[in-house]
Amino acid sequence: MRPVRLKALLLDLDDTLIDNPMDSFIPAYFAALREWVAGVVPPERFIAELKAATRAMAANDGSGPSNEEVFAAAFYPALGVPRGELEPLLDRFYREAFPRLAPLTAPRPAAPRILEWAHARGLQVVIATNPLFPRSAIEQRMAWGGIGVDRYRYALVTSYENCRATKSHPAYYREILAALGRHPDECLMVGDRWDWDIACAGAAGIASYWIAEPAAAAQAAEVEPVGRGSLDDFLVAALGGAFDSERFEPQVREALR
Ligand SMILES: [Mg+2]
Repeated sequence: MRPVRLKALLLDLDDTLIDNPMDSFIPAYFAALREWVAGVVPPERFIAELKAATRAMAANDGSGPSNEEVFAAAFYPALGVPRGELEPLLDRFYREAFPRLAPLTAPRPAAPRILEWAHARGLQVVIATNPLFPRSAIEQRMAWGGIGVDRYRYALVTSYENCRATKSHPAYYREILAALGRHPDECLMVGDRWDWDIACAGAAGIASYWIAEPAAAAQAAEVEPVGRGSLDDFLVAALGGAFDSERFEPQVREALR
């Protein structure tokens, strides 16, 4: 990977900027959805088709329409309920029921400080969360973490409306580069998932910082993150000037090992 001249910071959301363990969040989210639609659709069928349509969306590789449209094309016909009927109900779910999931997540104090550091340096900041959710569900999670769109300026927040690929494909990162007008060697991705955040960003030529325990095992030898640690560790490295140099990669390695 070439040296990085940092112009844009790409930040994963769940378990990177906020605590949001998917093992507890997803079951609670599905349970809330099941209850919400119970009067209109058999709940078990709803969840089965939701999972199938989410898999179809995860396969979107940048060659098709938006993730939202891929989801809709798989979901509503399979369920046998007109989109025009169910979509307003789901919109209301995100406005009225989704907020009740907030206590399952927790803010990470380093997150706003990282945003302040990035803004002070004039970096473009992207919330690079896997775009499987509507924008409302993403903006709410950001607000729960004290890093809402009303508090900080973002160059881009990826959501299922504005993406044509997911983090299962390097096309996701190429779309971000195109939206920012940046080259891969001007960006750094920070995230906790090896496959989505580190390996996939690396496949698009983007360097990464892995939010992981020191003992966590990397899963592919061909990608090497420039650093690894907690979000607090990343903040300390950033404030210590680890990313200020034109060629920050070797310095980060020294600072963190
Ligand atoms: Mg994550």
